[in-house]
Amino acid sequence: MDCLFCKIVNGDIPSTKVYEDEKVLAFRDINPQAPTHILVIPKEHIPSVDGINADNSAVVAHIFECIPKIAAAEGLTNGYRVVSNCGDDACQSVKHLHFHILGGKQLADTMA
Ligand code: 5GP
Ligand code: ZN
Repeated sequence: MDCLFCKIVNGDIPSTKVYEDEKVLAFRDINPQAPTHILVIPKEHIPSVDGINADNSAVVAHIFECIPKIAAAEGLTNGYRVVSNCGDDACQSVKHLHFHILGGKQLADTMA
């Protein structure tokens, strides 16, 4: 499958990893939009939030257990934002489920 984030999972494309376990990988966004900008992804290929179902939602729950630990390790003590763009209207550019962690500054009070 020609998927950028699957290639990052496989090590075919390098990334700056900040967290990894058997199911989840987190790495720094190549084009950060905040002082801290991390992408958290399942190692298995799920195309987007639209692809989450009863068979694969356990990894999503696991991702959300990982996110506070990653945020704490990054020193995001004053808060952070978690975003997942789904589909064309949301400008999803990589069709492998990912959650952005954004923080390290006062973020905009609008999301759209
Ligand atoms: P989306 O727009 O799909 O929500 O987010 C995709 C994110 O992936 C973007 O923030 C973009 O900067 C990031 N990205 C794209 N290609 C690469 C890459 O090769 N390495 C890393 N670390 N991030 C990437
Ligand atoms: Zn993939």
